Amino acid sequence: MPLDAAQAHYLSGVMRLRAGEAITVFNGRDGAWSARLDEAGKRGGIITALEQTGPQRDPPDLWLLFAPIKKARTDFIVEKATEMGAARILPVQTDHTNSERIRQDRLHAHAVEAAEQCGGTFVPELTDLAPLSRLLDGWDSARRILWADEARVGAAQALAGLPRGPWAILIGPEGGFSAAERKRLSSLPFVTPVSLGPRILRADTAAVAALALWQAALGDWLDA
Ligand code: SAH
Repeated sequence: MPLDAAQAHYLSGVMRLRAGEAITVFNGRDGAWSARLDEAGKRGGIITALEQTGPQRDPPDLWLLFAPIKKARTDFIVEKATEMGAARILPVQTDHTNSERIRQDRLHAHAVEAAEQCGGTFVPELTDLAPLSRLLDGWDSARRILWADEARVGAAQALAGLPRGPWAILIGPEGGFSAAERKRLSSLPFVTPVSLGPRILRADTAAVAALALWQAALGDWLDA
């Protein structure tokens, strides 16, 4: 199998592997495989996949919707969401979103690296930045939304009793949700507002906290 320049650089330049050495690889669909590095140069290389060494492990059907913030914090959210087992990551533009653009290739690279770091075999899909209102217009009501609502700060929250199945977590930007967004979200039957405790968290912390909360109550921490 051919390697692209970034993969070849990582293996030979960063990991200092030489031709003939063994590595573990994954493609996001077929589990973990042992492989041999046949060639690695500056612009590319070749590996041979030998045998499957571990099963494919997919996360639960959980999406993360978040409003992009400063570059490094957005990178952090994508990295942590991958580790925490989000299946799909959807950057959304909200009324108070501070960032107009995202670098999808860069975020994808962060997701791949995070999956490698935590021994995962799955890389979440990253969608293009889309307005939250448009996503809600076309939303499939079978997928519930766990809305991290800063107005509920300090309210008791209970996820017990909520059904398992397809969900999405929604995290707002540093400026929080607008009155119009709050009104709309409150009116949607598939949206459940939730508090993330007595302190206002930064959006990146809130994303990790909400993912942990969901995984523990409704996700794959239950089956671990
Ligand atoms: N500027 C806003 C806070 C925004 S925090 C204010 O002062 O009210 C960024 C996002 O993190 C919020 O939109 C929300 O989705 C989430 N968040 C942070 N702390 C939270 C909490 N205690 N409960 C629920 N959601 C929270």
